[in-house]
Amino acid sequence: MPTKILFERIDSIELQGVSKKYGSRFAVESLDLTIEGGELLILIGPSGSGKTTTLRMINRMIEPDSGSILINGQNVMHLDPVRLRRNMGYVIQNIGLFPHMTIEENVGLVPKLEGWDQNRTTERVRYLLDFVSLPPDRFINRYPRQLSGGQQQRVGLARALAMDPPLLLMDEPFGALDPILRKQLQKEFLEIKKEIGRTIVFVTHDIEEAFRLGDRIAVMDNARLLQVGAPEDLIFEPVNELVADIVDTARKFKHMDTLNVKDLMTPLDTKYILEGDLDACHAVEVMKDRNTETCIVLDNGKLIGKLEMVNLLKCEEKNPLVRDIAKPMKVFALRDSVATALSEMKRSGEYMAMVMNGDTICGMLVSDEVLLKLI
Ligand code: ADP
Ligand code: MG
Repeated sequence: MPTKILFERIDSIELQGVSKKYGSRFAVESLDLTIEGGELLILIGPSGSGKTTTLRMINRMIEPDSGSILINGQNVMHLDPVRLRRNMGYVIQNIGLFPHMTIEENVGLVPKLEGWDQNRTTERVRYLLDFVSLPPDRFINRYPRQLSGGQQQRVGLARALAMDPPLLLMDEPFGALDPILRKQLQKEFLEIKKEIGRTIVFVTHDIEEAFRLGDRIAVMDNARLLQVGAPEDLIFEPVNELVADIVDTARKFKHMDTLNVKDLMTPLDTKYILEGDLDACHAVEVMKDRNTETCIVLDNGKLIGKLEMVNLLKCEEKNPLVRDIAKPMKVFALRDSVATALSEMKRSGEYMAMVMNGDTICGMLVSDEVLLKLI
């Protein structure tokens, strides 16, 4: 039976005095938080601080012991849980795709349950795969095990978007991916976010991810909400030591004029290198085997540029050589300041740059890894 649409759009989600206990311990204690329609709210905090519990109380996978949760003024406890969940997309870290089902069946599962006919479902699945940069012809009949981690994560997102829900709940969706892949998916996700204009509640414990994606950030610790505000509120006016601690990386980020690129670069990992005379079709296979979605193209040791899986998949038909489609990438010298390099990268939306001494490649600069080293 098709379930009725509960809300076309979200005006607000209000959590009022919400508590949840396991035994004698609070998982979430007296939480007051209002999420505004259309915003991307980040829930951040150490492991065990109550983020997942909070998220799951919004879709009633967990029910609070006390307090209330109102969506557009309606108490979720008065709504049918199945209907409620079908009106929300839910994305988790290990996506939980069904292994014996094709990508089409996985993404089309809920539309099917909602009584859509095969044509309409297939059309929707194709649209969504395209939307998350997986060419449908290539992926629709595959099984999850035939996809890389990043590709599976994209399918997870497509599935969550299947019914065009007004609300997306995301629990550390990129948490299991390596730093470069994570950056790539964050970048694509920002574009998707702009396009769908949905309300999103996003859990992470990665402060850089929080700053990158969030409109507002709610900081949790030990079952309590410490502060909620825009990134700059947290940096300049943290309410206490704990919040200051959690955003500290961001502060260090602003005060590291003394460090050079040389101090914080990483060696160039061969995993990311492609030779310029490889063709696009083969490059896709190689990158899939290496479980990476970004590569650096070299011609006999000379830097040509970078290549992203998303762009590569688009030109498979013509099958050009990778040297002809590689894009220019940022290059820094050993003595450039890290602060300048990182802010330049942030401005142009890049997360990976090359470090060169004249014509010689010395290493690469990956913004996530730089921050990790500073902690
Ligand atoms: P986070 O997502 O921030 O890591 P959780 O919301 O998963 O934290 O958990 C908050 C606290 O509640 C933790 O101390 C966790 O051990 C506890 N907890 C969560 N789920 C259960 C459960 N089903 N039974 C007992 N304790 C739980
Ligand atoms: Mg969690």
